[in-house]
Amino acid sequence: MSCPKFRVAIVGGGVGGTTLAVALSKYEDIAVDVYERAAHFSEVGAGVGLWPRPFKVLKKLGLGDELLKKTPIPYNEEEYVTAMKFRRSDLEEGEYLFTMKSKGNLVYIHRADFHSVLLDNVSPSVETYTSKRLDSYTQPSADNPSEPIILNFRDGSTATCDILVGADGVKSVVRKFMMQNLSRDVDALKKCSTEEYLACIEPVFSGGVSYRTLIQADKLRAVDPNHRVLEGAWTAFGVNRSITTYPISMGKYVNFSAMSLDKDLMANAFNPDPSHRQTFDGEWVRPASAKEFTDKFRGMEKDTEIMLNCIEDGNIWAVHVTRNLPVQVHGRVALLGDAAHSMTPYQGSGAGQAVEDAYVLATLLGHPRITRETIPQALAVYDEVRRPFAIGVARGSQEVGQIAGLQTGLPFSEMGDKINGITSWAWETEVDGAVEDAQRMLEERL
Ligand SMILES: Cc1cc2nc3c(=O)[nH]c(=O)nc-3n(C[C@H](O)[C@H](O)[C@H](O)COP(=O)(O)OP(=O)(O)OC[C@H]3O[C@@H](n4cnc5c(N)ncnc54)[C@H](O)[C@@H]3O)c2cc1C
Repeated sequence: MSCPKFRVAIVGGGVGGTTLAVALSKYEDIAVDVYERAAHFSEVGAGVGLWPRPFKVLKKLGLGDELLKKTPIPYNEEEYVTAMKFRRSDLEEGEYLFTMKSKGNLVYIHRADFHSVLLDNVSPSVETYTSKRLDSYTQPSADNPSEPIILNFRDGSTATCDILVGADGVKSVVRKFMMQNLSRDVDALKKCSTEEYLACIEPVFSGGVSYRTLIQADKLRAVDPNHRVLEGAWTAFGVNRSITTYPISMGKYVNFSAMSLDKDLMANAFNPDPSHRQTFDGEWVRPASAKEFTDKFRGMEKDTEIMLNCIEDGNIWAVHVTRNLPVQVHGRVALLGDAAHSMTPYQGSGAGQAVEDAYVLATLLGHPRITRETIPQALAVYDEVRRPFAIGVARGSQEVGQIAGLQTGLPFSEMGDKINGITSWAWETEVDGAVEDAQRMLEERL
């Protein structure tokens, strides 16, 4: 690249950071560096579901066909198709409740497959670095747009950039320094108090603990050849627990994510009071034996027991969320994905929202009139367009979890319409509207 108009540093090579690297790859005048703390770019061994709205973004990035080769479900974008079936499983004999239909598939895929398709499509011009753990950054004052941002890594090395994007997940270091800087910024303090900014640094325990594993489909088939979870996606409801399953890796595995739910903690997870702190004692992610799964979820319907008996081991995740941030940009620094809005998994949307962030941000930065001087304007528009939307999705996801955990008192007959209403943005809307709004807002301000 002869003379890039600016250099973007992406910290974090998960789904969000890698999607941004792919989306920026098409702009030849933008230099991109990705810094990942792990020794390799990789993803956890579990499945992920992508709703039509974010999947269409991935198609726009040219990844649709490659991703669809990794999923067992026939793809149909034009018609209403079964996305997920729901049942009540806290009885000896479970009970079918309703089927959620979406216009276009909920595409479920192994995370490692998703991530490797993303990595394969990052342009060779993007520099990628592993074992680079960001410890801190320093941003020059706003009147010095040509001065670079300095990145300081754990290994003692430094790097520079014109734009820093924190795609570094729920425990984001970039969020920590951004919130500290905002809490001392006179202009930012007109919007929120010091305490409100500082309260956004630490993630909050959501009240849900996820028991995640992959079940070998052949093992389950040998015991129950017609087990319902072999054929499509299901969420099973129970009092303060729910189990979501779907086949991945061309049917080789059933992705299993069972949630143990605390009603009071769930109701308080997004409490905006800065003095409210909801914490989890113990490791957030740890390996778990098969017995821990069976002990926790025993007493549900018989076909759940059969499925539990096929588990070999897995992981337990205490699901943490970010508070609703008052802003996710500061000057030439932006947050993306879980760093900005880590959410609960009940609507299967965190990764999809990271994908949408990446696409909107790349489109704004790629605008021909964005220069080093006008970067803050592009980031401000990104914040205004993306943050409220993602916060709304996070709120909806928590609500779906409360319904699935039978915490709301909603009659079973009304649950289908309610969950459908909360989730229908995922197939009734498209990101194009947000992109058009963002481009219009940017042009009005430049
Ligand atoms: C049980 C469960 C089920 C889920 N199911 C779905 C689903 O079906 N659909 C869906 O859309 N979403 C789902 N999600 C949410 C989804 O997993 C996340 O929203 C998504 O992975 C976020 O991607 P990210 O790139 O923002 O963050 P991450 O995936 O956390 O990536 C952050 C990256 O940054 C790196 N990093 C961290 N700190 C540093 C540092 N200091 N320096 C350098 N690198 C750093 C990390 O190593 C990592 O590679 C689920 C989540 C859970 C817990």
